[in-house]
Amino acid sequence: MNIQKLIRPNILKLKPYASARDEYKEFTAALTFLDANENPFETGLNRYPDPQQVLLKTRLAEIKGCNYNQLILGNGSDEILDLIFRTFCEPEKENVILLPPTYGMYEVLANLNNVEIIKVPLTTDFQPDISSILEVINSQSKILFLCSPNNPTANSIKKESIEVLIENFKGIVVIDEAYIDFSEFESWVSRLDEFPNLIVIQTLSKAYGLAGVRLGLAIASEEIITVLNSIKPPYNINQLTQETALKRLANLDLVKNQINVIKQERFRVISEIKSIKIIHKIYPSDANFILVKVDDANKRYQQLINQEIVVRNRNKEPLCENCLRLTIGTPEENTKLLTVLKSLI
Ligand SMILES: *Cc1c(COP(=O)(O)O)cnc(C)c1O
Repeated sequence: MNIQKLIRPNILKLKPYASARDEYKEFTAALTFLDANENPFETGLNRYPDPQQVLLKTRLAEIKGCNYNQLILGNGSDEILDLIFRTFCEPEKENVILLPPTYGMYEVLANLNNVEIIKVPLTTDFQPDISSILEVINSQSKILFLCSPNNPTANSIKKESIEVLIENFKGIVVIDEAYIDFSEFESWVSRLDEFPNLIVIQTLSKAYGLAGVRLGLAIASEEIITVLNSIKPPYNINQLTQETALKRLANLDLVKNQINVIKQERFRVISEIKSIKIIHKIYPSDANFILVKVDDANKRYQQLINQEIVVRNRNKEPLCENCLRLTIGTPEENTKLLTVLKSLI
């Protein structure tokens, strides 16, 4: 598979911006830095951050079991998704394949980049409709977005289906694993060597508890990552984010404990919610949220708001009629949700 052929010609030709800190990489306090027009007086943040995020990427590579050169960091995974569009999709000419209901940003970014969208809805059990997907893809199809576990449906896509899709799609396959740490399925990072057209997206916004710092990552072949790195804004990960993330990643036991609590709570919420009459269906969850079908989503959504509980109304999403998406909170928050749900008439 020739990845270079999938990259837009203008991106291949592009000469990346070389920042001051890129040109002179050794960054020790003993040196006198008069190269980047920074304010020399110490504020703790007066210097530009490391544009290659060496310490943070080294630690993440260790945790994710990949090579340092297979990693790119973004200002949230949303920034990386945008870079992927700009790398591979020629506006007004090429298209991407989306499988609704799924994460809304893929569509927003496609529209922002003026790239055509071909939608192939999931089946009623929220799995990809493989034969329809293989039917609609054409020579202009550049990216297939798979979200597993999927948002808002909460389930994972079957391994065999993903294999068939990667093997048969001649463009880039993006697997968004924002919720992988809550899942029983293994990450596709371990399969990257087999699939040169695969990009795995993860984030520190969910399981790692750092939505506020905006840190997303993509893991792929060194070939793909080199191109993405060459077009990213030079200082896209700020100093505060790099420091905060490194601190959080130094204490993985804490993260793992929180994930375990959330998974136990997911089990508890699902088992208690079953007996509530207004809940008509609970979809299987491999994430830190559950999708439920209720009798009247708009009405129940508003009643919950009146009781000061905010959930996500997914009623308008395809296949999600009268569905609410409930994030698993702290044990106290979940108890409150269950109490209020039981009281609704
Ligand atoms: C929450 C979420 C993300 C995270 O986006 P960030 O920009 O990293 O916060 C990515 N993909 C999906 C499917 C999500 O639900």
